[in-house]
Amino acid sequence: MEEDLNRVVEFHGHCCPGLVIGYRVAKYVLKNFKRSQDEELVAIVYNNSCSVDAIQFILGCTFGKGNLIFKDYGKHVYIFYSRENKIGIRISLKGEISEEMNTVRNHILNTKKESKDIDVIEMWKKEYSDKLLSLPEEELFNVREIDIPEPRRSKIYPSIQCEECGEYFMEIKGRIINGKIVCMECFERLMED
Ligand SMILES: [Zn+2]
Ligand SMILES: [Zn+2]
Repeated sequence: MEEDLNRVVEFHGHCCPGLVIGYRVAKYVLKNFKRSQDEELVAIVYNNSCSVDAIQFILGCTFGKGNLIFKDYGKHVYIFYSRENKIGIRISLKGEISEEMNTVRNHILNTKKESKDIDVIEMWKKEYSDKLLSLPEEELFNVREIDIPEPRRSKIYPSIQCEECGEYFMEIKGRIINGKIVCMECFERLMED
């Protein structure tokens, strides 16, 4: 295993096909697109699966820095945007790979049902991860340049005090209920009452 992959696996907690997909996406971006430093590179991911951990770890597009945008579409699609160069690329997993992953998934589910044989499940995952590592990029992804509006930078707003719990929260996240300005946490609780 390559050294950076080892570190990704350590970060994620295990090696799995999803993580390998994210790793391959991240390496592709490093090689062909990383024209932006740090926060200038934005990732827009259409899933929140294991793959995103590799993208965060290798490319530094993280939830905390606000240059990782999650869209809950359940697709293996990864968009990267360079704020410096105002260009984007869209990387999507090839249909053939998704179909193969379905097959692997079914094998794993059947194994679980029949024998609960952890070793067999791990073997499936390992074999398929190895295959994903060795495939050439052209067989893994479709890649194209795209023209998208620049993603908004995350803003910092002033904090105000919740009239219910007394904790401070970001002003634009407030709600008004029973004439009081409250935080979302209190709002949701009060709505249930
Ligand atoms: Zn995983
Ligand atoms: Zn509150």
